[in-house]
Amino acid sequence: MVKINEDLKKISSDNSFIKVMALSNKYKNDNPLKKVISLSIGDVTLPIPEKVVDIMMDSLNRQKSIDTFKGYGDSSGYAFLKDVILKNEYNQMNFSLDEIYISNGTKMDCINILELFSKDVKVLISDIAYPIYLNGSLVLNSNIYIHELKEEDNFIPQVPNEHYDVIFLCNPNNPIGNAYNYDDLTKWVNYAKREKAVIIYDNVYEDFINTNIPHCIYEIDGAKDVAIEFRSFSKSLSFSGIRCSYYILPKEIYPNVNKLWKERTINRFNGVNYITQVGASAFYLEDVQKIVKKNINYYLENAKILRECFLKCDFKVWGGENSPYIWLKIKEDINSWELFDLYLNKLNVIVTPGIIFGAAGDKYFRVSALGKREDILCAVERIMKYYEKNN
Ligand code: PLP
Repeated sequence: MVKINEDLKKISSDNSFIKVMALSNKYKNDNPLKKVISLSIGDVTLPIPEKVVDIMMDSLNRQKSIDTFKGYGDSSGYAFLKDVILKNEYNQMNFSLDEIYISNGTKMDCINILELFSKDVKVLISDIAYPIYLNGSLVLNSNIYIHELKEEDNFIPQVPNEHYDVIFLCNPNNPIGNAYNYDDLTKWVNYAKREKAVIIYDNVYEDFINTNIPHCIYEIDGAKDVAIEFRSFSKSLSFSGIRCSYYILPKEIYPNVNKLWKERTINRFNGVNYITQVGASAFYLEDVQKIVKKNINYYLENAKILRECFLKCDFKVWGGENSPYIWLKIKEDINSWELFDLYLNKLNVIVTPGIIFGAAGDKYFRVSALGKREDILCAVERIMKYYEKNN
């Protein structure tokens, strides 16, 4: 038998979304008459704007004709999509088409990028983070360091004293739902410059930003030398099922990096399908932008409703203002799986136990505002009633 990659066994399913789903499904099967509401969902619920679907249908139809048929495209993406992204998202930042890569999901990209570095570089990941950073990195790198996010810092990651080579940052943050300001990010960019490190900057919630915080890491002086930024159409355009994302790999990071990475990409990927890229480029049409803004406001209004509910119930609350996630401190003397059970059994509401995002999250839980309004209102009513009775 060929030896298996033992590092795969480092991925834990004990504290994972798989367990949340298994326990929730079991409860639903055992209690078919109960209406269970999920505030655990990290997926969008509003559909793709009709105009985008129409444009994609049209481009699918054009695949019937010999004159308009498209086969393999450029593995790093079509120029028409790169071009509109650079103009609309990175205007005046002077990135070239060679520095942007179109791909099919930040979940995959933010880990695959580790192939750019030597396998023994020191990787720093927050304890309380999107679980993919750790689970994905464990298979590609053996030198992983964890730094704990602390409540007293409002869960903003603090610059360490030690040297690390690669640092994962997520802003606006999942799961905390908070967002780092110009000062916070400047400290990280300066650290990375000093230590000659690289920041893997996960910015998939950029469209939710509505206060004065950076929309992009390259707004910080010197960030082009040290940061690779990732964004996605999953949440903004409801493309979580269609799959389309992109990242910027600035040429300043290493000389000739894009030549190397392009060759790697050609050998590992045949590109996102043409129809999806046509759909993603429609994101920037005026009519589509109006719907995108309306959808984001809908989720942010959900977040406001949830925030107010938990504040009224005397919870310590973070996030929900520039992100669809709210992070809450458990009031009872129980851990986050026990809190999960309590909400499921007593309120028929599914929340995400904080331990899924790291051991430091075990006194907390996350709720998501990406659900339907009627479900959010129904969950809020149950939560208010429960704490009125139990306070
Ligand atoms: N990064 C973070 C922080 C996320 O929360 C998610 C999805 O929930 C992703 C990346 C995945 O993005 P994509 O759908 O582009 O793979």
